[in-house]
Amino acid sequence: MNKEQKTIELEKKYPGAFESVKNLLECLGEDVEREGLLDTPYRVVKSFEELFRGYDETPEDILSTCFEEGLENHTEGMVLCDHISFYSTCEHHMIPFTGICHIGYIPNKKVVGLSKLVRLVHAYGRRLQIQEKMCSQIVEAIMKYLEPSGCGVVIVAKHLCTSARGVQNHTNHMTTSEMRGTFRDEPATRAEFLELVKLSGSVNLST
Ligand SMILES: [Zn+2]
Repeated sequence: MNKEQKTIELEKKYPGAFESVKNLLECLGEDVEREGLLDTPYRVVKSFEELFRGYDETPEDILSTCFEEGLENHTEGMVLCDHISFYSTCEHHMIPFTGICHIGYIPNKKVVGLSKLVRLVHAYGRRLQIQEKMCSQIVEAIMKYLEPSGCGVVIVAKHLCTSARGVQNHTNHMTTSEMRGTFRDEPATRAEFLELVKLSGSVNLST
């Protein structure tokens, strides 16, 4: 398929999207016919398709394939998947925020591969989001589909909407956490989770 055909297909898939991008450019006082901007509507729509792909991904699809074997003798050991990097878009300003997500849970009967948890984070990240909601959506999905005795999620992110506009705070990170089950009810479990997150950040696996 050549570029022209691709453009026609994309315009058909998202009616009005190209015009909307052109309108925004014109609001900026730009000439949408100048060479540098000719393909911009196509590129913006194409990149939105990727940045907001999460709307097509459900936690059911991602977490339904889990392992139940081998956990018969499992006793309260914690699984930690830390430093999952993600990209998201603030729903208030449609400006990116990026960060890392740490997930811990104590399996009851089910565990999933690390790649599934990465996919889960990206599925919720690739939507219009606020960090607090993303944090609770991840923890709720894990509680629902893996049924662990507890789960904790910590997200540390940098918001371009505060560094590029408004208060222009260039150093501000936001940290959010959500705890469920034993992670919420048992201080020792919560402390172990936070300690493991801290420890994992200090380990250099590159050698
Ligand atoms: Zn914002």
